[in-house]
Amino acid sequence: MSSLPQRVAVLGATGSIGASALDVIARHPDRLRVSVLAAGSQVDALLALCAQHRPQHAVIADESGYARLRDGLRERGLDTRAHAGSTALDQLVAGDACDVVVAAIVGAAGLSSTLAAAHAGKRLLLANKESLVLAGELVIAAAHASGAEIIPVDSEHNAIFQCLRSCRAQGEVRRVVLTASGGPFRGRSRASLADVTPQQAVAHPKWSMGPKISVDSATLMNKGLELIEAHHLFGLSSDRLGVLVHPQSLVHSLVEYIDGSTLAQLGLPDMRTALAVGLGWPERIQSGVAGLDLLSHGRLDFEAPDLEAFPCLRLACEAMASGGTAPAVLNAANEVAVSAFLQGQISFLSIPALVEDALAALPATPASSLDALLAADLQARRLTESAIAGQAQRA
Ligand code: NAD
Ligand code: MG
Repeated sequence: MSSLPQRVAVLGATGSIGASALDVIARHPDRLRVSVLAAGSQVDALLALCAQHRPQHAVIADESGYARLRDGLRERGLDTRAHAGSTALDQLVAGDACDVVVAAIVGAAGLSSTLAAAHAGKRLLLANKESLVLAGELVIAAAHASGAEIIPVDSEHNAIFQCLRSCRAQGEVRRVVLTASGGPFRGRSRASLADVTPQQAVAHPKWSMGPKISVDSATLMNKGLELIEAHHLFGLSSDRLGVLVHPQSLVHSLVEYIDGSTLAQLGLPDMRTALAVGLGWPERIQSGVAGLDLLSHGRLDFEAPDLEAFPCLRLACEAMASGGTAPAVLNAANEVAVSAFLQGQISFLSIPALVEDALAALPATPASSLDALLAADLQARRLTESAIAGQAQRA
């Protein structure tokens, strides 16, 4: 690791993970400094963050926002340099403006910068799970070749990352179990989910998150994406990965060892803990999160996931088993379907139906190249978009 303070690029700075990362970074001015801030299209929110954190560079992915970003920085008297577009972002991530990259862009849009950080040997705090679902082998291989250290900042994978520090070899692990809150519709039947609204779906009982992952949590697709994420991060086959619904969201995941020991990581549901683990590792640093008072919570419950009411988890397991382009198709169809659901164009139950249709229409083919994966992603997006347009015409 290079000398302190470490320069941190926060990608997806205006989002939920971005805010948590910036909160932790601001607590450690001696060891961490924000050097790059990047967002999708919210220029005003990005400008406000620049005024607060004074990075060297600010990037707006949407190129039409460039002039407003540049002028806004000037008006505020900031010497932050303005950039626009994904190529500019990839270059900043790979260049010497940062040592650490917080990859917290939502969706497949985050793949390119995740790969750039992995190729460039940066410490990669990976929240953008979609990049691993889409191209996990390529991301892991790139990190391996460059020596980039990936620290997962999805709470479950961060928990597993911590628990795995108590063994030497992967063969000592019997099984890894991801916990799931069950989302806002836990315990409900499939039929009762027909009319749920986007507002109900994003009202997560335990975590405060961006809209896309909140819907994924409500369908349980999030847990499916996380199984694929765990498969790539920890090199575990699907028969050594399980899911347990745990409504209190205090146990963030468990690792079972061959000697019968099970290690779990517990804590309040606040992403600043996982981010502090990544930002400080191998040291522990303050995150602003209080300790866990188990007496005040009283109990920890566990139950099996309901695959009948929440078929997205089953679809993700099937895509993981098929391999090749299947996870890319699953992810792309899901992104399009979730966005249409959030815009009120389709029903909640159409999400798994559209994903299932895409997987059936685009059977898995082997995918060793990025081009093949991106082609599958694009095909699945087009197919799902036209299925949604067809539904709208019939309605
Ligand atoms: P969010 O919607 O709150 O924020 C998304 C961020 O991505 C915003 O800053 C947005 O401007 C940016 N963005 C969108 N499209 C972009 C593009 N094309 N180029 C550059 N930036 C773009 O989402 P979030 O909840 O913070 O989630 C971010 C990622 O972290 C997702 O992959 C999610 O699955 C993962 N994650 C989130 C949580 C959580 O608690 N929120 C937990 C675990 C994992
Ligand atoms: Mg998670």
